Amino acid sequence: MKQKKKSDVAVLLDYAGSHKGLTFLGLALSAVSMLLSMAPYICIWLVARDLIAVAPDWTRAQDIAQYGWLAFAFAVAGIVLYFAGLMCTHLAAFRTAANIRKRGVAHVMKAPLGFFDSNASGLIRGRLDAAAADTETLLAHNLADIVGTITLFVSMLVLMFVFDWRMGAACLLAAVISMIAMFSMMGGKNAKLMAEYQAAQDRMTKAGTEYVRGIPVVKIFQQTVYSFKAFQEAIEDYSSKAEHYQGDVCRVPQSINLTFTEGAFVFLVPAALFLAPGALAGGDFAGFIANFAFYAVFSAIISTALAKIMFAASGMMLASTALRRIDQVMCAPELKVPEHPQSPGSSRVEFEDVSFTYDGAQTSALSHVSFTAEPGQTVALVGPSGGGKTTAASLIPRFWDATSGVVKVGGVDVRQIDPHVLMDQIAFVFQNSRLFKASILENVRAARPNATREQVLSALKAAQCEDILEKLPQGMDTLIGSEGTYLSGGEQQRIALARAILKDAPIVVLDEATAFADPENEALIQKAFTELTRGRTVIMIAHRLSTVVGADKILVLEEGRIVEQGSHQELTAAGGLYARMWADYNKAVQWKITSEQ
Ligand code: ADP
Repeated sequence: MKQKKKSDVAVLLDYAGSHKGLTFLGLALSAVSMLLSMAPYICIWLVARDLIAVAPDWTRAQDIAQYGWLAFAFAVAGIVLYFAGLMCTHLAAFRTAANIRKRGVAHVMKAPLGFFDSNASGLIRGRLDAAAADTETLLAHNLADIVGTITLFVSMLVLMFVFDWRMGAACLLAAVISMIAMFSMMGGKNAKLMAEYQAAQDRMTKAGTEYVRGIPVVKIFQQTVYSFKAFQEAIEDYSSKAEHYQGDVCRVPQSINLTFTEGAFVFLVPAALFLAPGALAGGDFAGFIANFAFYAVFSAIISTALAKIMFAASGMMLASTALRRIDQVMCAPELKVPEHPQSPGSSRVEFEDVSFTYDGAQTSALSHVSFTAEPGQTVALVGPSGGGKTTAASLIPRFWDATSGVVKVGGVDVRQIDPHVLMDQIAFVFQNSRLFKASILENVRAARPNATREQVLSALKAAQCEDILEKLPQGMDTLIGSEGTYLSGGEQQRIALARAILKDAPIVVLDEATAFADPENEALIQKAFTELTRGRTVIMIAHRLSTVVGADKILVLEEGRIVEQGSHQELTAAGGLYARMWADYNKAVQWKITSEQ
């Protein structure tokens, strides 16, 4: 079904939810306040009329003080209503931004875990948070200003007929010219130029961020900014686009726009001079002068209104790009939840002819992979980098779903298991297991929120973390990642292992990356692994072959295919890829031992 595209404002108002009414109330108040703020000009007209009528005997003009008070009252009422209106629009705008954040996060929570791998969490947060904030200006200020300005122009049209339409038209003419000039900069082929100019600005910002990230490398290698070709090119591209757009395209229309915005009276004075003789002859010269006074003062607010339209236009653009970014988050794929979920019967893990291709990739990361890990068995995945080990492990907790074939846990297709139940079955420890900026207790307890302190402590002990607890000032209540309490990579990994141990899931998916750990940490991590994997079904990505010798089954993955499988003895005897890797590994170990002697 083809859906009619909603305007950006309508989309934003949808996000406002129950606060939508407040936006409308705010806009109505803004319109009324604009009407009230025009009333003082009418009072001025009344004053001018009375004064001219009694000239030169000014004392006879008795009502002018009253008009003055009236003007004051209208002005104050206008300001009060304007603020009341802004309060409403602000409340609605903040609620809208909050709703965007909530809905975005709620949506992202339904995305498969793999989505967070390819979309760094900071990026998602930044995109959503900044975009939500960007919608605020439009909803809180610009919409109210647009409504106010429309009210102003409509009432101007009315006032044109009330006083003197010819002088009114003269004032309006300047406003119309300045608006035409303003929109000519943004419409037609200039819209494309402006989009290019903004895109160049975006590219420059991104390249700038990359550059700042790369500063350590630049310093170490004694490079200059010119070594960052992309950044330099982005700056040059931006400057040429900016010069072209601002210099060639905007110079003339912007000059016209500013001239007529500030000088709404340029047509008024000649019009008045032109009309004066007629008014003199007509006998109501006093009325004519009063009308002129009205328009002369009134023309001043036209420029304010026009300036507001300009801000409103840029607010619209900002909100529109913000909505595009929000859409990107809202378009994150959703993990499909089964309608009639089934429960896994055991901790058996099975791959049945599983193939998987990453979105946008040319070749598949896994091709026709089949294997079984019986309950309690340890299956090790080995092979060259890029062989598909991580991908295979990621399919079990549904980071992604298989492109074809079936991944089963306990005899049930993982897609038919309630995601929460599946997560309860699996503990996974990957290389980038993150710790939160919280106490160690909270970090470990994340696996099982109702675990007692004692249970957390015994998990920490099983994960060989006692030395970490001892050296920290408040033991497991110490906040990590703040006030200088940082843990080494190996220590962080042991805490992550404690978390997995506490989870007590029957299946463990594990990336044994100890490459960055020092020898002491490494030995402790090995012990923690043993604790974690005891009695469980284990799928382990192995980087160093010493850890796989005892595995029940070893799968050798190369270019997404299982090229060999069997026990360590079987594979070394077979003389294939694994046997070569084993020989290389032993050579490396020997070399290390020899060189350390
Ligand atoms: P291994 O763990 O054995 O080193 P991976 O499973 O990480 O191998 O990678 C298998 C293949 O899939 C590689 O060609 C890799 O480039 C590709 N790949 C891995 N992760 C992604 C991803 N998030 N998006 C696209 N391609 C990926």
